[in-house]
Amino acid sequence: DLRLPRPRRRRVLTVANQKGGVGKTTSAVNLAAALALHGLKVVVIDLDPQGNASTALGVEHRSGTPSVYEVLLGEISLADAAAVSNQSDNLLCVPATIDLAGAEIELVSMVARESRLKEALTSEALDELSPDYVFIDCPPSLGLLTVNAMVAAQEVLIPIQCEYYALEGLSQLLRNIELVQSHLNPSLEITTILLTMYDGRTKLADQVTAEVRGHFGDTALRTVIPRSVKVSEAPGFGQTVLTYDPGSRGAMSYLDAAKEIAERGARRETS
Ligand code: ADP
Ligand code: MG
Repeated sequence: DLRLPRPRRRRVLTVANQKGGVGKTTSAVNLAAALALHGLKVVVIDLDPQGNASTALGVEHRSGTPSVYEVLLGEISLADAAAVSNQSDNLLCVPATIDLAGAEIELVSMVARESRLKEALTSEALDELSPDYVFIDCPPSLGLLTVNAMVAAQEVLIPIQCEYYALEGLSQLLRNIELVQSHLNPSLEITTILLTMYDGRTKLADQVTAEVRGHFGDTALRTVIPRSVKVSEAPGFGQTVLTYDPGSRGAMSYLDAAKEIAERGARRETS
């Protein structure tokens, strides 16, 4: 039996990397599921119009479904839009519908356009759900949706795919995080780097891992997520790999990563 420490204060993590296909959504939903299946209360906010996180959590996201779009418009609360996942009563998802695709432009002319998600997260309505963890799954861009996610969070989790050019484009992400830190959210911190889709048969994967560790040191989790067919199959069944194949290497590694995140958080609280 695995006990994960419950954070004293709610932790809000933004999963960001403007590159597509690096494992943002996969990491957000699987880490969330791992924490929820071990007794913590978790909300995933799907901030990508593709709605892949909603799909993996078995949550309705057809156009017209109450979603994060209406939350950003200020029409409904996060609690109103949150739906219980098909995997755990402790795991909720605020879905994204295709309506969100227009939000990047619509937000431009709104008041407090960078902090609309933060407003929604700090409202009393979320206390009803009393989550221990909130994961925000960002779209593959550095536009206003991602800025909203960074303003709303205390922590950034950056998934990095173990492939050629892994670090390319990362300096742009880091620069954007610095801008948000200096102008909009001084308490934002990059707490977690997660290496994903590691293929142990290639030399390249080890080179990338060493390079990332050289650059980010202990911010990179010890756990590395292997490339695994089970991980990529799970969303097709409206599942995370944690419920689709709990004994698989993919599931075990996401559980290990979640444990590391929870334990590091507990250590930071006491230091
Ligand atoms: P992003 O959200 O950054 O665009 P995704 O999480 O959607 O990236 O992942 C991109 C693709 O890679 C998806 O098809 C996903 O199923 C697959 N994938 C992600 N992680 C793994 C893994 N560890 N093993 C195999 N396939 C993976
Ligand atoms: Mg995604």
